[in-house]
Amino acid sequence: MIGRLFEAGADVFRINMSHTSHDKLRELVTTIRAVEAGYSRPIGILVDLQGPKLRLGTFADGAAEIETGQDFVLDTDAAPGDAKRVHLPHPEIFAAIKRGDTLLIDDGKLRLVATDVAAARIATRVEVGGKVSNRKGVSLPDTVIPLAALAPKDLADLEAALNAGVDWIALSFIQRPEDIAEAKKITRGRAAVMAKIEKPQAVARLADILDLADALMVARGDLGVEMPLEKVPGVQKEMTRICRRAGKPVVVATQMLESMIASPVPTRAEVSDVATAIFDGADAVMLSAESAAGKYPVEAVATMNRIAEEVERDGMYPPSIHVLQTEPEATGADAIAAAARQVAETLDLAAIVCWTSSGSTGLRVSRERPNCPIVAISPIEAAGRKLSVVWGIHCVIDEDARDQDDMVERACRLAFKEGFAKAGQRIIIVAGVPLGTPGATNFMRIAFVGPGADDE
Ligand code: PEP
Repeated sequence: MIGRLFEAGADVFRINMSHTSHDKLRELVTTIRAVEAGYSRPIGILVDLQGPKLRLGTFADGAAEIETGQDFVLDTDAAPGDAKRVHLPHPEIFAAIKRGDTLLIDDGKLRLVATDVAAARIATRVEVGGKVSNRKGVSLPDTVIPLAALAPKDLADLEAALNAGVDWIALSFIQRPEDIAEAKKITRGRAAVMAKIEKPQAVARLADILDLADALMVARGDLGVEMPLEKVPGVQKEMTRICRRAGKPVVVATQMLESMIASPVPTRAEVSDVATAIFDGADAVMLSAESAAGKYPVEAVATMNRIAEEVERDGMYPPSIHVLQTEPEATGADAIAAAARQVAETLDLAAIVCWTSSGSTGLRVSRERPNCPIVAISPIEAAGRKLSVVWGIHCVIDEDARDQDDMVERACRLAFKEGFAKAGQRIIIVAGVPLGTPGATNFMRIAFVGPGADDE
């Protein structure tokens, strides 16, 4: 199935540690790497950590019916709850919550407002009632809770993921930039770090979080619980915009083709949602239950892929993607990436081929959103795999070039072999010379793909 999903257009596989044991994680990584070995293109693996998910305690009868308008108490007493009170096994919440703060239970189905707060007891008024059962999730959109971003389970999962050699780690329920710094201290470059934005506290500090993170995910599922639903599209646009400006990837996630869990055909609104994310410049669009548990996983991936390709062919795409000006920063990589795009578009070149060891030149060229394919050649497998989440890049893992002639020759040959340039077309090659010096992009060359490009 993983092979079929890759063939249908998947670039990255997400492993959600809320539902995965360490044995299963290792098994999945082995399977994905085995599929990857059959292709020339690296596959990305993203491990999504559960994060500090807050939950209620238990009820004497397994559940309780709580009426709208009644009073309800959350306390530190571990005794099973009833329709009047329940245990809240998170002391940090008692220290942080203020009168007037909202508590959302079970993905926002029940809404409580704190009316009186003490060290061991939070009295609330029930604004929206309903049935609540054991260990349902609790969200506090108004309260910054001094919780570590990585709970003990996350630390163990992170270690297992790093040992398995995954490419990206996604952090759930982060609230502050320090949460990213904490994860980066542990990953130390062994995997890139993606910040899932799903809490208003994180939305309020987007710029600082993006400074430290390698990518953002618009985690619309929990975001739509913690914030009014109608605010989520604006947050998605803002996140896409700041990521595009920074040249860091942004993933739009959740319920993109939700109806395909049970139907082979999506709704028109879902098609439009995926298309909008791509028109706005998202690097990646994500499926969850559609591919993890739905009846039509391959169809869902193929549908998403078709939508992405069609949007990129649409005449409205170039003006839409370039409505945001991404001025080059004052670095060699940015100046050359901007120039390469201009040359490629002026001369209608077949592709931009960049030699990139860390992947950073690939990122900067992608930030320019050129209208031709970007082929990134890296000798470092991990760098190529990380780039799999980035817009418009086709990665090839190949050994470093010996010299400039070899670099130009092999760029032409690979562009031809991978199907991005025909004999007689021209490409532009971007690199840092001497090769293998990260951040030293200083070289640009236009070259003809000759008739002998396919000679090995
Ligand atoms: C989300 O909340 O949208 C999300 C992607 O997170 P998860 O799938 O882990 O709930």
